[in-house]
This record gives sequence, structure tokens and C-alpha cells, in this order.
Amino acid sequence: MPTLRYGVFGDIHSNLAALHAVWEAMERERVDGYLCMGDIVGYGADARECVALIRDLNPLVVAGNHDWAVAGKLGLEYFNIQAQAAIVWTRRALEAEDIAWLGDLPLTATVGDITLAHGTVHNPPAFEYLQTPYDAHLSFQELQTKTAFVGHSHIPVSFFDGTPITYSIDERIEFGDRVCIANPGSVGQPRDEDPRASFAIFDAETRILQVKRVEYDIGRTIGGILRAGLPVLLGERLRIGR
Ligand code: ZN
Repeated sequence: MPTLRYGVFGDIHSNLAALHAVWEAMERERVDGYLCMGDIVGYGADARECVALIRDLNPLVVAGNHDWAVAGKLGLEYFNIQAQAAIVWTRRALEAEDIAWLGDLPLTATVGDITLAHGTVHNPPAFEYLQTPYDAHLSFQELQTKTAFVGHSHIPVSFFDGTPITYSIDERIEFGDRVCIANPGSVGQPRDEDPRASFAIFDAETRILQVKRVEYDIGRTIGGILRAGLPVLLGERLRIGR
């Protein structure tokens, strides 16, 4: 039986409490497949646990810039000072085998009519943000499927091809026949001023996307960041969702 109902998520960033909350919510939604847009690690202190849980879930998964940086496939100069500290910390926290697994993640993946990429569809290795209609235009020109899911900006938003290109930040979006590139927001470090973990449920048959938010124990994640000696700012930003 083909997968019809997907749990769509990304930008976990080593935040196990958030990933657990999202995983439980996706289970309650009875999804029968998982799509993950990468950045499993970076910023938080639960790198081992998050990699283990993702490997257990066995989603269709692509590499995020933090994943590849930990694996040495992307230079530290692309990151700010806090992110650099977390990448260096994560390299020490993970087993060589997990680091190799992160490095082996592909830049894009496709299942049925769905493409996954971390940043953009038109230039995945550059890990650029897809945030404006112009960014979406560039990606629509390269998109070979009817639907794409991306991450990286940590902002939930869906773009629709057309003249003009339109977008939606609604919680429930009917894609219909439209070609769409959607971002379900970030599990582990939301940046839209809503600190709750963000993900989406996509029904491939009805083509309806539901963007969901779930609360999790932010204090627990911050405690881990502080105990690990990671930059304090990486914890504080979780409370304000920025
Ligand atoms: Zn990210």
C-alpha cells in the first residue's frame, strides 16, 4: 500500500524534548510515513538521542547544513559563532558511525510526487533560504514534482506556483492542483515567535497540508544546553521562538 499520510518535519537541532512531542503527535495522527528535511543536529545538546530516534523512525531524509558541517562536508565559516560552537561540540558528542551517517545524507530525495530539500530546490548545496516569492520562483523552475518540502528558514509557509506566485501561512491548506513548495516550520528551534514545536501532516491523496504546533518542555532542553556548556543564547531563544 502506498504511503498516503506523511508526518513532515525538519530542523530538529538536537532538541529531544521537542522531537519527542512531535513524534507522539505524528503517531496520534496515524501517519504511515515520515519526511524529514534535515538539520537533525546543531544548536542543542541532544545530538546522540536525536540521531538515534531519527534513525529509528527511518524517514525519507535529506541533509541540512548543520548535519553536513558536523560531518566535515561544509565549512564552519558558513555559520555564526554560536552555531560553530554547537557544531564543534556535536562532533565530540557523536559516535563516528553517526557522523558518517549524517555525512551520507543526500541533498535531495524524492518519493512519488514529492521532493525534499533542506534550503531550496534550485540550489540545494548552497543551503540558501526560500523565504520570498522570488526564491520560490527560482525553485519552481527546477522542481520536477508537484510538491516540495523544505526547511532551513524555520518559518512555516507554503508557496504556490503561478502568476503571481502566492503563499499561505494558514494552518490548513488545500494544495489542490497547484504546484507547491511548503515549509512545515522547525521542530527544535522555531523562529516565528511561537515557541511551540512545529511540523505538518500531509495527505498525499487529498493534497491537504495541516501545520501543527505542540508544546514541549523547553526548560528541559535549555537545561541540557547549559549543562553541555553550549552558548546560553541557544537556550534563551527557544523561549521566545526566535
Ligand atoms: Zn535549521
